[in-house]
This record gives sequence, structure tokens and C-alpha cells, in this order.
Amino acid sequence: MTAGTGEIEKAADVLRAGGLVALPTETVYGLGANAEDPAAVARVFQVKGRPPSHPLIIHIAGAEHLDAWVDDVPAAARLPAERFWPGPLTLVLRRGRRVPPEVTGGLETVAVRVPDHPVALALLSTFGGAVAAPSANRFGSVSPTTADHVRTELGDAVDVVLDGGPCRVGVESTIVDATSETLGILRPGGVTREDLEAVLGRALPVPETSRVRVPGQHPSHYAPRAPVVLVAPDRIAAEAALAQDRGRRVGILLPPSVPEEAVKAHAIVAVPASTTAYARGLFGFLRELDEHDCDVILASLPPEERLGAAVANRLRRAAGPRPSH
Ligand code: AMP
Ligand code: MG
Repeated sequence: MTAGTGEIEKAADVLRAGGLVALPTETVYGLGANAEDPAAVARVFQVKGRPPSHPLIIHIAGAEHLDAWVDDVPAAARLPAERFWPGPLTLVLRRGRRVPPEVTGGLETVAVRVPDHPVALALLSTFGGAVAAPSANRFGSVSPTTADHVRTELGDAVDVVLDGGPCRVGVESTIVDATSETLGILRPGGVTREDLEAVLGRALPVPETSRVRVPGQHPSHYAPRAPVVLVAPDRIAAEAALAQDRGRRVGILLPPSVPEEAVKAHAIVAVPASTTAYARGLFGFLRELDEHDCDVILASLPPEERLGAAVANRLRRAAGPRPSH
């Protein structure tokens, strides 16, 4: 059930007292702390097992509050803020004095956004400050898109979990470097490159060619327990058969071009043809395949248009090399 006013007021008190609140947003669920409280922010890193050098995004109640948290907003950053906030767009700007360096991993820049979710917005305006919040999952694993995902993964480590239903977008925000007039995408996400370019009236550099090093962009991230292997759609049936014959429990994110009867696997999730629906479901699908105890997950990259770019980015990272431990 969606959190009501009473719960939201209680959650704002928890933030004021230095506690942690898991909150729904339109992208994924966040693990929030008062951005101005270094001890609370330290607990976020500790609960997630996230290295302190990986900066957090701060969430504010509206674009009109931006100047309280950042210095020197380039003119070019105002338009996307006006057009896409509230929404799944994060702007990296010069850090203002109110933001402690613990939030930004010591960087002189800070990532800011206004989430487009009634519960998140109500919490932010009741609380009155900024909420530093990464995704509410353990570092490196799949982001939560329901309150149940958060409860299962973080349980008692969080003081309050606000339920806001399943996330509408399902993948994280698009991060744009807005520290200079030349904007650049650092991470594809819920606002598409196509929509940003239409608003700005010009092309944006693609993530790989972006000039800013992005902390926290490890090769392996957004990863389920089972290893993810990327395969072309026309190879997926053969690869699945091979692995099954070797006794492995194969899970498949089945691309829409491949008929289900054509594949033999331990668990199959048929991927929606719409990339919007795929983005919304992606992290839940990966969790579902983990619940089936798959030994390996086969997936194909969707066409990298619109939200397909964010889905492909997350799948590549899920399939990235993992630290051995
Ligand atoms: P998460 O909230 O887990 O999706 O991660 C937030 C991501 O935002 C980090 O992994 C960074 O890639 C990015 N980020 C946050 N702050 C900055 C910053 N100051 N400069 C560049 N990227 C940032
Ligand atoms: Mg995350």
C-alpha cells in the first residue's frame, strides 16, 4: 500500500534524526539520508557496502531549490532542469557549501535531481532539505523496483521503507555532466538521449566519449547472482541448449524475435517488445531468474534507441567482469 501522510511525516522525522529511509522514485527505490548529515550519509555507504569514493545523488523537491545546493549553474543546464524535472534526469554541477564532501566522494561536483514520484516529492517537501540517496540495494547488485525488493535485500538495516508501488521507469536516471556549457551524457537512463537532444536542439556526446571520468561506474554492476552472458538473438537457442546439455540451469531473457518454443531452458522470461516496458521490468526479471536458481543467464542487447540504450547499458554492466572473492 502506498505510504500516506502520517508515514511520510514519520519518515521526515527519521531523516532529521539521522536515520535511513528507503523511498520510492519513478526510477528505482532509493536509500535516503539527510544530505547535510555526514554520519547519516556514512551509514548509507556502510549499509550498501559501497566504497566511499562512489558519489551519491542528492534529491531535492523542485528546480527552484537548485541554487541552494550548487554553485555556478551554466545557462545550458537550466533548460533540461526546467523541462525534465521532476523526472529521471540527474545533473552534475559544482558542489555548493551545504553539500558535505562525504556525499560526493570528495569531488567538487554534486549530482542533483528532482524525482517524479508523489511519495518522494511529499517526503522532500515535508523534510525541507536534500536527501542523498543511491539505489536501495547492496553495492553491485540489482536495483530494487518494489518495496518488497528493498525489504528482502536490506531488511532491518533501514529505519523506514516507504511503499510507493512498483517503479514506473524501472532503470536509473540519465546522468548529464552540466559543469560547463557543453553538456554530455555520463550514464544513459530514464530520460532518453533523443528527448534531451530534441529539447537542446543539438547532438550530445555518447557516454563512451564523454570527457569526465565517472566514479562508481565499475565494469560489473546491476548484476544478479547468476553470471549474465550476452548472446546475439539468433544464437540464443543454440547457446542455451549447449549449456543445458552440460547440466547447467539456464535462465533466458528471451528477445521478442525468438519464439519461446525454439528454446530449451530452466527458466524463461519473455522480454517485452517495447523498450519502455523492458526497462520497467528489467531488474525484476533478473531477480526472478535468480529466484529460479539459474547457473547462468543468457540475454541479448535490445536496439539502443530510446530506453533501449539504458537497458543495453545495464545488461552490459550486469555481464561485466566480476571481482573475484
Ligand atoms: P546510484 O545512485 O547507485 O545509481 O549511483 C549514482 C551514480 O551517480 C554514481 O554511480 C555516479 O556514477 C554518479 N554520480 C554521482 N555524483 C557524481 C558526480 N559528482 N560526478 C559524476 N558522477 C556522479
Ligand atoms: Mg545503484
